[in-house]
Amino acid sequence: MTIDYDPEWGTATRGVRAGTHRGPDGEHSSAIYMTSSFVFDSAEACAARFAGEEPGNIYSRFTNPTVDAFCDRLAAMEGGEACVATGSGMSAILATCLATLESGDHIVAAHTLFGSTIGMFNNYLGKLGIRTTYVAPDDVEAWKAAIEPNTKMLFVETPSNPLTEIVDLGALGALADEHGAWLVVDNCFCTPALQRPLELGAHIVTHSATKYIDGQGRALGGAVVGDADVVGERVFRFLRTCGPSMSPFNAWVFYKALETLEVRMRAHCENAGRVAQWLESQPGVEHVYYPGLTSHPQHDLAAKQQPGGFGGIVSFDVKGGREGAFKLINSTQMLSITANLGDTRTTIVHPASTTHARISAEDRARAGIGDGLVRVSVGLENVDDIIADLWRGLAA
Ligand SMILES: *Cc1c(COP(=O)(O)O)cnc(C)c1O
Repeated sequence: MTIDYDPEWGTATRGVRAGTHRGPDGEHSSAIYMTSSFVFDSAEACAARFAGEEPGNIYSRFTNPTVDAFCDRLAAMEGGEACVATGSGMSAILATCLATLESGDHIVAAHTLFGSTIGMFNNYLGKLGIRTTYVAPDDVEAWKAAIEPNTKMLFVETPSNPLTEIVDLGALGALADEHGAWLVVDNCFCTPALQRPLELGAHIVTHSATKYIDGQGRALGGAVVGDADVVGERVFRFLRTCGPSMSPFNAWVFYKALETLEVRMRAHCENAGRVAQWLESQPGVEHVYYPGLTSHPQHDLAAKQQPGGFGGIVSFDVKGGREGAFKLINSTQMLSITANLGDTRTTIVHPASTTHARISAEDRARAGIGDGLVRVSVGLENVDDIIADLWRGLAA
């Protein structure tokens, strides 16, 4: 039995109630279907299911009740018609691109994308003859100017990493429509608890479920959400044939995590807002990047576009360049020094020497990623303890 969701429900209710798959035992919390294949009563029934004449499962590379429950729930939260789950966030992006693009097609993307996404576009899509042009995420005119007759996809993350620039999704959605292209949004930083790109004009949403959707640093996974044609047919067919599938166990972990997504994101936002405000008052800090601050140049756009909150990522420039940043990071005791984000545990990293080290110093400077920049993914510890640890670092 599947409980469809009421379109009147809010995101938290969808996260708790949508996509409930209940078996004959009437289990309250959904079961995990750890099975690779499904059996049939007769050769005729088997043939009918393979022919698509009868609904039901065949093989867990492409359909599995637990994975479907996760997909139905995430689609409901994003407001999409269809969802395809994948083994990682990267394979969600790969599936989206290979299912929709052909040799000779062109992508316009923000130059601030996740490093592996840029690597995939340049090294792997590039050798298939799919070219990418990169632009500043918050400059709508630059997006416009980069469009070519064969542009089929605009690809963006908002807020950007690590400077939290906000992309106007309504403007980019309209631009994509005008040119018959798809606007694809990697909604990893916000999740549907904060921002629903499909309602703002995006055509496809991708996720790394590894980050906030799990939110507890346990499992790798990804998802693609969109309409019944592009995602429900094209991306699904790619998954069925090429197989970058999500395991039922990981699907169950993410499915249960969606039940607490909205309360967790609210707590991340509240802690991040407090940390950002405190940092702004510190003499050792030159600048704080957080969309929730009124000093952020796109604070109003962020408030409109992210009704659920401003997110959990805070970046800031410390005095003393790389040496000052390293001293601060090394002087913290509780914070985890890691490039990962979206965890219950607060993480701290120096972007110029890690996540953005492969970019030339010149390009980094142009993008505004200085040697004194520090990025914090604010977790769910008591905010006073997070601030005390950062204070220890700044005092050093
Ligand atoms: C981590 C991340 C990815 C890749 O996800 P994986 O699950 O690690 O493959 C993609 N986009 C963004 C914005 C990310 O932070």
